[in-house]
Amino acid sequence: MRIVQKFGGTSVGSIERIRKTADIVAAELAQGHQLAVVVSAMSGETNRLIAMAHELSADPAKREMDALVATGEQVTAALLAIELQQRGIAAQSFTGAQAGFRTDSSHVRARIQHIACDHLVEHLEHGGVAVVTGFQGMDEKGNITTLGRGGSDTSAVALAVALQADVCDIYTDVDGIYTADPRMVPRARKMQRISYEEMLELASLGAKVLQTRSVELAMRYNMPIHLRSSFDLTPGTMVTREDESMERAAISGVAYNRDEAKITIKGIPDHPGIAANVFGPVAEAGINVDVIVQNISEHGFTDITFTVPRNDFRSTMAIMERVCAEMDAKSVSGDDSVAKVSVVGVGMRSHSGVAQKMFDVLAAERINIQMITTSEIKITVVVDEACVESAVQALHSAFGLDTDD
Ligand code: ADP
Ligand code: ASP
Ligand code: MG
Repeated sequence: MRIVQKFGGTSVGSIERIRKTADIVAAELAQGHQLAVVVSAMSGETNRLIAMAHELSADPAKREMDALVATGEQVTAALLAIELQQRGIAAQSFTGAQAGFRTDSSHVRARIQHIACDHLVEHLEHGGVAVVTGFQGMDEKGNITTLGRGGSDTSAVALAVALQADVCDIYTDVDGIYTADPRMVPRARKMQRISYEEMLELASLGAKVLQTRSVELAMRYNMPIHLRSSFDLTPGTMVTREDESMERAAISGVAYNRDEAKITIKGIPDHPGIAANVFGPVAEAGINVDVIVQNISEHGFTDITFTVPRNDFRSTMAIMERVCAEMDAKSVSGDDSVAKVSVVGVGMRSHSGVAQKMFDVLAAERINIQMITTSEIKITVVVDEACVESAVQALHSAFGLDTDD
């Protein structure tokens, strides 16, 4: 088999952990598999590098940020290659550029365009292990780029696709994907399998165990992901195509995201084109609007409420104050202490009453729902951030997801 393994920050967080990672690589190689290994920076390292840049400048150039943070992964790739060589394994480290990751030029959130990996294939076919830095690539002008926080997952899946690997094993600090973040819900249950579709919803709704784009790629190319722990080698969770044997509970998981802010514009004269006037300037500023609610208009005026990532709150408020003045709207207000709580499950397609149950559970907890949005397989509510934990835990129990022990 040809396998791509990815080790996250905690799995390469110290020399001791790098030795343990080398044990896992060596054991897999001894099984006769071909191996490419994608590594993250040591845990905490990317944050440390970013903090240093911010000590020097409030708004450092994105090109330099990429040059800076890409070093974290180079350290771990070289260290792992050294440890593997020490054991007589023909390992070699490759930076993103050396491994052939060609990206666009959007620094700090670049997208992979293609991976020219013939030389890696040759290395693997001769029994060598390719240790590749996650998170980074190079644009057509030779600038170093990075793929956004958590991007090593995406590097690993993209490499697995390019190398036509049989599976992408993602090693982290939990032993699988759980029905909710096990740090918040101690009674969360580990899943044996989950469909790409559900994992994509969970990840995009806040379950940061896999970067959303990695799941998108895996789904598009049907690349199975095995998410497992590098601390204990029990089988983890397989992320694959939906299949008939998968359980059909109404809900398979609960996710939350604290990274939210809410903005309301009141008393906008209601005529065709207002949504375009309000959201056009936000989109031009590169800000992603998420949940949108527009009230029915009364006496020719309407209200619009929407959410944006919390980091973009101040700049969005500034844009809205300008737009509001231009459009003669009555007022703009904002709240940057809201959060999103979502329930996800393909079973929702065949179970009715999920939304009602969700609202009842939150009402019983005396949690006020500020906004609601749904799709075929998820229901999301926006609530006060202070309620997130109780909302997630109550929903997890009410939908029967708690473990019995
Ligand atoms: P790595 O550094 O290996 O990429 P991350 O910290 O990015 O690891 O992802 C692992 C973390 O994801 C876990 O420690 C866990 O707290 C969190 N997490 C959030 N939601 C879930 C979930 N549904 N199942 C498992 N882990 C989750
Ligand atoms: N080191 C990068 C980060 O912390 C990429 C990754 O770990 O996936 O975001
Ligand atoms: Mg991660």
